[in-house]
Amino acid sequence: MPRRLLAALLTLAVAAGCGARASAGGFTDGRLTVVTAFYPLDFLSKRIGGDTVSVTDLTKPGAEPHDVELNPRQVGRIADAGLIVYLHGFQPAVDDAVDQEAKDRAFDAASVVALLPLADGTDGEPEPPGADHPETANGMDPHVWLDPVRFATIADRLAERLGRADPAHAAAYTARAAGVHRELDALNAEFAAQLSTCRRHELVTSHSAFNYLATRYGLTQIGITGISPEAEPSPQRLGQVAAEARATGTTTIFFETLVSPKVAETIAREVGARTAVLDPLEGLTDPGADYFSVMRGNLAALTAALGCP
Ligand SMILES: [Zn+2]
Repeated sequence: MPRRLLAALLTLAVAAGCGARASAGGFTDGRLTVVTAFYPLDFLSKRIGGDTVSVTDLTKPGAEPHDVELNPRQVGRIADAGLIVYLHGFQPAVDDAVDQEAKDRAFDAASVVALLPLADGTDGEPEPPGADHPETANGMDPHVWLDPVRFATIADRLAERLGRADPAHAAAYTARAAGVHRELDALNAEFAAQLSTCRRHELVTSHSAFNYLATRYGLTQIGITGISPEAEPSPQRLGQVAAEARATGTTTIFFETLVSPKVAETIAREVGARTAVLDPLEGLTDPGADYFSVMRGNLAALTAALGCP
């Protein structure tokens, strides 16, 4: 630990000596330096932090965050940051870097809400053989941000943590978080109202990212590939899902934006359903979109697929 601290101090000294921007004690040019692990946490940190924080995201826009690798420069950013905003159990490389470099300067979004156990990529079925979950060593489902209610709690707790890291602006962080919380309450009300009248309640999806959302609104997720979007489902799993899709009258098989729709298309062909996008918000593909616009797009896709008048 002392050696790491020394390395960090040397980095700072070198940076200052080279005339780089003034960076010390987790602040750069008077703004708290915040490093975020992936999009929803980046969105929240920017909305709540406003112009008194400087936010850097570790996951490039449009990249799949589950298996992100960090380069030395990014690990250095983590070592120097005033606050790391991450979700333990989602990205092993980030977990490791936080453990080694920033344990006392980290906000873990998974630590402030009740987690659901992994749904095994199915509606309660045992894990299909060969499924690979390197990112979920703790056995819990990481996709908490897709539940607006849990996300609002994360917003409140993040504001408190930002306020501890930067007490001079604590009141502003609290106030902005309250605004985000109100918007999330409104989003939650829209989801609850529009999903209360659906003819079908089964959400068939390639990437099992939607259990928090499904559980919140009385839906059942039927996952094809499991929790890790790149996993290859077994022929048995494909057969099971096709049978469930037929039995439940499913008309739409969902796939996500950051990975290939091949698996969803295979099932859709087999059961005569169509495919549509349900976005797990792990990265933004459209730079003009944000958390709220993507979630409202998801709601529209769900009401169309599930027959909710
Ligand atoms: Zn995921």
